[in-house]
Amino acid sequence: MSSDSGSPPAARPKVAPLQAVRGMNDVLPDESALWQRLEDAARAVFALYGYRNLRVPMVEPTALFVRGIGEHTDVVEKEMYTFDDRLSGESLTLRPEATAGIVRAAIEHSLCYERPQRVWLAGPMFRHERPQKGRYRQFHQFDVEALGFAGPDVDAEQIVMLARLWRELGVADGIRLAINSIGDAHERRAHRADLIAHFERHHDLLDEDARRRLHANPLRILDSKTPSMQAMIAEAPRLIDRLGPESRAHFDGLASALAGAGIAFEVDPRLVRGLDYYNRTVFEWVTDRLGAQGTVAGGGRYDGLFEALGGKPTPACGFAIGVERMILLLQGAGATAADAPLAYVVHSGDAAGTLARSLAESIRDAGHAAIVHAGGGSFKSQMKKADASGARYALIVGEDEAAARSVSVKPLREPGEQRAVPAREVVDAMTPASPMRATE
Ligand code: ATP
Ligand code: MG
Repeated sequence: MSSDSGSPPAARPKVAPLQAVRGMNDVLPDESALWQRLEDAARAVFALYGYRNLRVPMVEPTALFVRGIGEHTDVVEKEMYTFDDRLSGESLTLRPEATAGIVRAAIEHSLCYERPQRVWLAGPMFRHERPQKGRYRQFHQFDVEALGFAGPDVDAEQIVMLARLWRELGVADGIRLAINSIGDAHERRAHRADLIAHFERHHDLLDEDARRRLHANPLRILDSKTPSMQAMIAEAPRLIDRLGPESRAHFDGLASALAGAGIAFEVDPRLVRGLDYYNRTVFEWVTDRLGAQGTVAGGGRYDGLFEALGGKPTPACGFAIGVERMILLLQGAGATAADAPLAYVVHSGDAAGTLARSLAESIRDAGHAAIVHAGGGSFKSQMKKADASGARYALIVGEDEAAARSVSVKPLREPGEQRAVPAREVVDAMTPASPMRATE
């Protein structure tokens, strides 16, 4: 509807544009094709191993994360977005990770009552960290969990599945696997005293976080990134040297399953996870191509979590992939993803517009994307938009073509003459692009 009141529009006050919250990013259409390629590949690979999608809320009771992740962790101490529900006053938190919510849901719905479950989830996580490349306040993960499996076969299965995903994405030679065992709770207790004694001998080297954690969570000090502490950390007593027979057998079982599958790995005795509920297997896939934020996926076993959250004892193993870091890695490897349409239809006149829209529908019937120019304008300006759309072909429908029920097909991405074809043959007159892959 047009307004023709005759009086000039009232001047509106100028409004300053708002910006996204710091550390929370928009994914714009030019970038999202690569996100979708990663998402499609991950979904397909998870399905090949029988993992099924499960979705849980983005907000959970704060107590779930405090209990499930552990009080003395970076995530719970410093990184959670926590607020009180306006009506009930209940403390709620935006999920900083997915495992606690998945286990909550599994307990709530007795998911593992009849048989173990393989599940995965994709979505945003929230942590109040200092934003930098590869580290954001809203970021995305694929989270994969095998619930009710004692391993180590399923631990190996998940690692083999990730190796397949890296191959599928063409980044396999940029990522290496590190594994470790952090034993069971009783083994960690025995190791703990030695660890504290070691750190106390080097008290002058400990940073503020490490001093605070010395008695609460000394294992976490091993995970510190403070450069001046690294040499001292490298000398710390190693838990993997003191595993009891069961943990040792679990670790050896994992190592031989990986060797059997032809997966290379290194054992990193300093590798611990930031989250308290892990036991035995821990693993990380690391790249040197992203600077300090080099861990693209991490996971391990958490046999104690179900009980810690009020469920029946249920062994389980899982991992999370950092989507933004994978996207950076893919971009660095020169990966592209095609989302350009096959055809962009330019047209002029009523009859041509009708033909243009029906041509586009027949192209879509054949399973290809087609854009019909909208908004009028000269052929010249429409052709510019056709080019900018990335389409492989411009289809030109003028009044003459409309009268003759024909269309001019012009290749935009490779040399070739424009040629007129009957409207009903338009699909056959175009060659779709071959799917693109990472150029590694
Ligand atoms: P980091 O040591 O890098 O802080 P983390 O141990 O906190 O990682 P996890 O909780 O194991 O990470 O999460 C699994 C994966 O999620 C990480 O390996 C990483 O790829 C990704 N990730 C974690 N935190 C962020 C973040 N703030 N921004 C982007 N990706 C993240
Ligand atoms: Mg972290």
